[in-house]
Amino acid sequence: MYDLAVIGGGIQGVGVAQAAAAAGYSVILFEQDGLASGTSSRSSKLIHGGLRYLESGQFSLVRKALLERALLLKLAPELVKLVPFYIPVYPETSRRSWQIRAGLSLYAMLGNFTHDARFTKLDRDTVSGLELKNTTSLQAVYRYFDAQTDDKALTRSVMQSAMELGAELVCPARVIQITHQQHQFAIAYQQQDQEKECQCKVVVNAAGPWVNRVLDSVSPEVPKLEMDLVQGTHIVLSQPAPNGIYYVEAPQDRRAVFVMPWQGGTMVGTTETPFLGDPANSKPLDDEIEYLLEVYGHYFDGQDEMTGSFSGLRVLPRTNHHYFHRPRDTILYQHASLESLLTLYGGKLTGYRATALQVLKQLRPILPARKPIADTAKLMLNPVSSSFN
Ligand SMILES: Cc1cc2nc3c(=O)[nH]c(=O)nc-3n(C[C@H](O)[C@H](O)[C@H](O)COP(=O)(O)OP(=O)(O)OC[C@H]3O[C@@H](n4cnc5c(N)ncnc54)[C@H](O)[C@@H]3O)c2cc1C
Repeated sequence: MYDLAVIGGGIQGVGVAQAAAAAGYSVILFEQDGLASGTSSRSSKLIHGGLRYLESGQFSLVRKALLERALLLKLAPELVKLVPFYIPVYPETSRRSWQIRAGLSLYAMLGNFTHDARFTKLDRDTVSGLELKNTTSLQAVYRYFDAQTDDKALTRSVMQSAMELGAELVCPARVIQITHQQHQFAIAYQQQDQEKECQCKVVVNAAGPWVNRVLDSVSPEVPKLEMDLVQGTHIVLSQPAPNGIYYVEAPQDRRAVFVMPWQGGTMVGTTETPFLGDPANSKPLDDEIEYLLEVYGHYFDGQDEMTGSFSGLRVLPRTNHHYFHRPRDTILYQHASLESLLTLYGGKLTGYRATALQVLKQLRPILPARKPIADTAKLMLNPVSSSFN
């Protein structure tokens, strides 16, 4: 019998598997498709505090994420790299120069004023060397630093680390039924054509946009939190990669959009489109592609060929607020009737390690006593070969 079973091989699931194995627990992780096949390969690929979350007052989220960014830059130097970000200010942009300066000052403070937290207003000569098509009416350009990653490669690397600490990966294997009886769980899963079962003491549901579907398969029944799925699309253009990440304001609705280097081309994203239905069917819509092409064409030259597009689903708590203002922190949900089942809703790629530690803190009173074997704050993360899942 395993101490802990994790459902979902996205960044949150592998993070929990790594932290639990490091804490000395026996761990099994089920992934129905491939590692990072869900949202964790469809993000904006930033390891960042999230400058724009300051606008919705999410200071604690930003601070935690900046601390994790600093750590990941040390632990995963081949996977997480610091890159310059440019914020152009034109007469028509709604975020004024003083607001951006104030936001970046707060961002630097939340990042402990380290070297990586520095920002500058660029001088005229530097601005003229940027890729922007209109530099004449530019009022200012601010440069600061944040980090970029390959989300799928990072997820695979964290799973590799978990396995080195003893965690087991079952993939592809879809969990179809979770039954709680006599203080333990029976987990039924489908692997190829076979139905199999394993036993564990505690279950962590890290199924991303599928979390509530996984809760539907729990017996006895447990209540769920009401969530909205919100699709975010990115497009990839053949235009050579820019020398940094541009943080521009969409002329259509004033949303912040990133234009960034990605695999030799240019990636533009993202959107916020309500999504209903099976998460497996999330795909870029024509309207979203048109919106992103328009944003790109507004700021940059070139009729570029679109070489790819992808979309992922945010899991956001259902409130009366617009999606842009909804909290982006992870919600850890344990229902009083079944405390040994913990469900993770939402969250950021950046905060996966801190979230995993929080998950274990909450579960520790239910788990058996074990001797820790490692500390995830000290474990280096290296790229793994492409044959690994
Ligand atoms: C458009 C967009 C951009 C984003 N950009 C950023 C960013 O730049 N930086 C950042 O920090 N965060 C970003 N995020 C947030 C971040 O990407 C997500 O929070 C994170 O990837 C979610 O990981 P997860 O493990 O919870 O879910 P997922 O990656 O979706 O993983 C869940 C996994 O569970 C598996 N699964 C589901 N059901 C079962 C089952 N029954 N049995 C077995 N396996 C199952 C799925 O196959 C899937 O692989 C972004 C999110 C979106 C949508």
